[in-house]
Amino acid sequence: MNEFELIEKITHGAPRSGEYLVCGAGDDCAVIKGANGKDFLVTTDALFEGVHFKREWTTPKTLGRKALSVNVSDICAMGGRAQYFLVSIGIPEDMPETEVESLFDGMAQSANSFRMSLIGGDTCKSAKGLLLSLTVIGECDTGKAIYRKGAKPGDAVYATGTFGDSALGLACLEKGIRNIHVRNFIKKHDDPTPRTAISQWLSESGCVSSMIDISDGLMADLNHIADASKVQIIIDAKNIPFSDGFIESAGLVGKDGITLALSGGEDYELAFTVHSAKRGLFEKMLNVVLPTFGHKVTKIGEVLQGEGVHAVDVHGTKLALANKGFEHKW
Ligand code: ADP
Ligand code: MG
Repeated sequence: MNEFELIEKITHGAPRSGEYLVCGAGDDCAVIKGANGKDFLVTTDALFEGVHFKREWTTPKTLGRKALSVNVSDICAMGGRAQYFLVSIGIPEDMPETEVESLFDGMAQSANSFRMSLIGGDTCKSAKGLLLSLTVIGECDTGKAIYRKGAKPGDAVYATGTFGDSALGLACLEKGIRNIHVRNFIKKHDDPTPRTAISQWLSESGCVSSMIDISDGLMADLNHIADASKVQIIIDAKNIPFSDGFIESAGLVGKDGITLALSGGEDYELAFTVHSAKRGLFEKMLNVVLPTFGHKVTKIGEVLQGEGVHAVDVHGTKLALANKGFEHKW
């Protein structure tokens, strides 16, 4: 059994919409009708010790920052603004109180930078390992949430930032490599930055037909857009954006950079599609604002009729990938 089969079973009969429910389970956030021209966005994500992190590979403060950032990333994926959060924590016996305080300091640090407020949670003892589950509430203007389901044939596929860095950082941690050349990759894994500013701009641009944040891997998450939109997505492997030195560093730790970039998880970048009729306008507007974001935005592919996601090389030949991304399995 994998997580997606299980989620499908659990949510099969659940309402997808209703009087106040605009969008139920299945997208990055649920969307609920608000008042005064706003809708609410709600999302939850958990980080479990031994599954998502090892306490010895990070610091409590950094872990606190990451716990909030990965949730905010799901609000960004819908083009919303994160506002409130709740924290449920299961604390193991061997975790000193000072470390618990540092964890919450890290969360408070991120909350300040995103202008968010802690509004509740739950505090329990954990029988084994540190357990963290956050719920984030945000808002967007009524009817302006960007879903996974809006891509159409003829749309262009774009992505923010660079890919594979986090998976390379994790590979370095696993191999005990922590030198200056790989520091930025480890940082991207430990302390990702959700793309709040560009998410807002993309929402206001009116050019974006679908969007998702990349948590499980570029191919795997684009597959959710392809599925929800009933389209095929073709990724041009030569256009995948990499960080400086990424391919070389991946080689040095025995990894293939392209595979890491296409199927490595936890980049927390945004991937989105641009309406076919607005492609030219979007490029013009993007060129004006791009320098203010401080990260890349790259056209990486096309939306076609059909289904699934395929990465192709310069000859148009489909790349064979051993795995397309991360999934929890039992
Ligand atoms: P993301 O990677 O964006 O956080 P997930 O892959 O975790 O999204 O989840 C996909 C969708 O399934 C989301 O809408 C999420 O709310 C829903 N979902 C996941 N687990 C459950 C669950 N146990 N019960 C109900 N809905 C769930
Ligand atoms: Mg998501």
